[in-house]
Amino acid sequence: MILIEHLTKMRVNKHFFDGEKVKDQVFGGFCTCGGTMYQKIWFKVDNNPILVSECEKCWRNEAMTFNSTTLVKREEIEVVDRRDFKDLLLKILTEKEYKTIQAKWRNEEYNPSTLSNAKKKLELAGLALDEITGYI
Ligand SMILES: [Zn+2]
Repeated sequence: MILIEHLTKMRVNKHFFDGEKVKDQVFGGFCTCGGTMYQKIWFKVDNNPILVSECEKCWRNEAMTFNSTTLVKREEIEVVDRRDFKDLLLKILTEKEYKTIQAKWRNEEYNPSTLSNAKKKLELAGLALDEITGYI
């Protein structure tokens, strides 16, 4: 699992899921370092709720997968921010498609059919072109 913090999305089995941010400070378990974790984002993947909590001490992010209300899995997750976002996108898009999106965003010339291929690939993966263009 990979958390894409700036999009409030999580990548699970090559698909991106939308999450819902927890606005208040709600207890989210104890970290392996002994610190307190707070609930950050809730996801729903294949009908199972997944909670991402973050440790206030070491900033470790953990995903807890529930089967309705029973905790079934707890694991540390990778967090991708804007800087690493390109690497993640290049697992879906080719370099050429990536550059095409960039060109459109910068109002430069681009190949519309390459753009439409890129858009299709993104949509299949659970990403919309509009939500990522500001970050590439
Ligand atoms: Zn910790």
